[in-house]
Amino acid sequence: MSGERWREVLQAAGVAGAGGDAASHPLPARTPIDGSVLVHLRIAAAGEISAAISAARSAFERWRTVPAPRRGELVRRFAERVRAEQAALAALITLEAGKIPAEAAGEVQEVVDVCDFACGLSRQLQGLTLPSERPGHHLLERWHPLGPVAIITAFNFPMAVWAWNAALALVCGDSILWKPSEKTPLCALAMHRLLEQTLAEFPEAPPALAQLVIGAGAAGAQLAADPRVALVSATGSTAMGRQVAETVAARFGRSLLELGGNNAAIVTPSADLDQALRAVVFAAAGTAGQRCTTLRRLYVQRSVREPLVARLRASLVSMPVGNPFTPGTLVGPLIDAAAYERMQHALGAARAAGAAVHGGERVDVPDCRSGHYVRPALVELQQPVPVLWQETFAPMLYLLAYDSLAEAIAQQNAAAHGLSSAIFTNDLREAELFLSARGSDCGIANVNCGTSGAEIGGAFGGEKETGGGRESGSDAWKSYMRRQTQTVNYSGELPLAQGVRFS
Ligand code: NAD
Repeated sequence: MSGERWREVLQAAGVAGAGGDAASHPLPARTPIDGSVLVHLRIAAAGEISAAISAARSAFERWRTVPAPRRGELVRRFAERVRAEQAALAALITLEAGKIPAEAAGEVQEVVDVCDFACGLSRQLQGLTLPSERPGHHLLERWHPLGPVAIITAFNFPMAVWAWNAALALVCGDSILWKPSEKTPLCALAMHRLLEQTLAEFPEAPPALAQLVIGAGAAGAQLAADPRVALVSATGSTAMGRQVAETVAARFGRSLLELGGNNAAIVTPSADLDQALRAVVFAAAGTAGQRCTTLRRLYVQRSVREPLVARLRASLVSMPVGNPFTPGTLVGPLIDAAAYERMQHALGAARAAGAAVHGGERVDVPDCRSGHYVRPALVELQQPVPVLWQETFAPMLYLLAYDSLAEAIAQQNAAAHGLSSAIFTNDLREAELFLSARGSDCGIANVNCGTSGAEIGGAFGGEKETGGGRESGSDAWKSYMRRQTQTVNYSGELPLAQGVRFS
């Protein structure tokens, strides 16, 4: 039954024909829903990747001369195709990444939103004019296309993260090479197919403007090492980002890193506890705890700990866990067995350090016995323990009590990562302190909403071991272009800067 359903989903997303026999196609694309293999795919050989980079270089040389608003038109047309296929694409995300349909549809909507944003941006890639200190001189700053951009993506946002990069890179005049997660290659094939169709009908677009490189970490490492790749935008674990950062820095290339998170929220005594509860549950258990912005650490002021904890525990452990295609499910599967093992290991370490663990056990889902389903866990700690400081990509929330807000902010900022943070408070002074230079040290700081679920209009990313990159909205486009300072002398004289005389 499920095999038939899976085929329908692949068919609707236009990827049913992808793949071939296992001997020559060594990458199995699986569904985490029941662990079955959907298709076997080819892995790009090193020589093919090198040829793709050469082709991307040539495509860039043509594309950079196309006026930016025309480049925006390409992205607008692509978004039209995505809109038309929204339901089929969302179903493919559910199948391959295990997201519940509402979250999968939200991810496809994010693709459309960032394309709309990029299209508008294509008329606003603004430089500056600056006052020159020399008479008869014109000083300005211009932004030019950068070159081929490698986009390495993680499994948990198999379409949106690519779109954040691709839409901006394309309007900025760059060619793109996408190395998707080896855990979600079919989502990449489906998206790429729509972009290829759009390119085929766009006369100014060179054929190799957008390419897909299917492979594992080695393929990403090859892209990172190649000096013909101008920007390496890599999303994934901090361990991966560390390798990419070193490789790209060694060749003086540019990297944009979106890495792990260990996100925290603070609940103060003045908070609306109903609101905080709903926000915390979504942030901790949405996408089965597999978002980079998932809430992992909750600091609750001691006076409100009891009323909040009892309700939180009841909410988390009673959440409907199961096949994401089953209506009513709120928590789908973990991506694979290794994710399940890492979660159990973290829970074991917390227990051994004296934590009270509620939930976290395996859930047996009929017809999905090879999937890895877990009940979201609440882990009550009396004090910080070593495992608290690592990112465990699963629905598990550590809870600690605090006395003063300064102490809570210090604890929140003590993590190695610096992605997302939140405070729940109705006290203006507390909110402003949290948002001030003495407050959260993260790239994202929210008041009265959870750590996850960012909008595309803001710049997305985080500090410290999250990598420091910014993608999507605001002025994140500047990473995909090179800045040039230009001085024009229309004076007929040759005055030198700083009044230097050279005669
Ligand atoms: P991962 O690090 O295992 O893989 C991510 C990508 O990197 C994959 O495409 C993989 O093939 C590639 N890769 C692996 N080794 C590489 C290497 N040496 N050189 C180049 N590429 C390499 O991550 P994952 O398990 O797919 O995703 C989960 C992680 O991603 C979590 O840590 C999560 O927080 C993070 N993430 C961060 C963001 C963000 O925007 N900050 C968004 C989504 C996910």
